[in-house]
Amino acid sequence: MEHIFETHAHYDDEWFHEDREKLLESLPDNGIETVVNIAASLDSIPTTIALAEKYDYIYAAIGVHPSETKDLTEENFSIVRQMAQHEKAVAVGEIGLDYYWDETERSVQKYWFERQIELARELKKPLVIHSRDAAKDTMDMMKALHTEEIGGVIHCFSNSVEMAREYIKMGFYIGVGGVVTFKNARILKEVVQEIPLERIVIETDSPYLAPVPYRGKRNCSLYLPYVVTAISELKQISEEEVVRITNKNAHDLYRLEDKWPN
Ligand SMILES: [Zn+2]
Repeated sequence: MEHIFETHAHYDDEWFHEDREKLLESLPDNGIETVVNIAASLDSIPTTIALAEKYDYIYAAIGVHPSETKDLTEENFSIVRQMAQHEKAVAVGEIGLDYYWDETERSVQKYWFERQIELARELKKPLVIHSRDAAKDTMDMMKALHTEEIGGVIHCFSNSVEMAREYIKMGFYIGVGGVVTFKNARILKEVVQEIPLERIVIETDSPYLAPVPYRGKRNCSLYLPYVVTAISELKQISEEEVVRITNKNAHDLYRLEDKWPN
């Protein structure tokens, strides 16, 4: 498979310290055309930018994950603002609400979710949304803040078909990764079947959430073909079409249209 667009990975993570360069340099020869590396904490913002500066096929999303927002202050938020304006920063993220880990008070998560949504609006960049065990609050905030005017992706989508449709109506893409290969992922499989391919982007969330047959191991973009195969089987279309359409979707999502080869 060629021309695969990896919309969500964390290659600055310490899991890649031993072989990062070798792995990243192998991606283009293995059909991975473009990667967006996603910052998730204050510390990962400079390391994400460094990867985007080093490799022409890597772009950056700049933001602070909800569980890390306890570290944010007005002062260091100016770094987020500044780095999000980097020429290779294509989105604000990942940002959102996470009630699974609950490491940061919900009121704090909500405050910085709103601030980062407003930053995206100001910079005219799409949102990369992380929502875990917080479906209703995420949707309520996104509606109240009129995120349909900003757009973006709901990464690692894990909610109902109904909610996927609602996000699509708001102009968002649905991020699908390794979970779609899991036997017990009944609802996600249903989501993939029910929503148009034109609203799906593919992702790994590396180093997390490796697809079957690597479930539980370190994930990387080289495993995206397993996600492509699962989607093609669910939608009864060719793998080539899944790759081609999701690649186009990702270019539209991250507004890299001018770099779309066709
Ligand atoms: Zn992530």
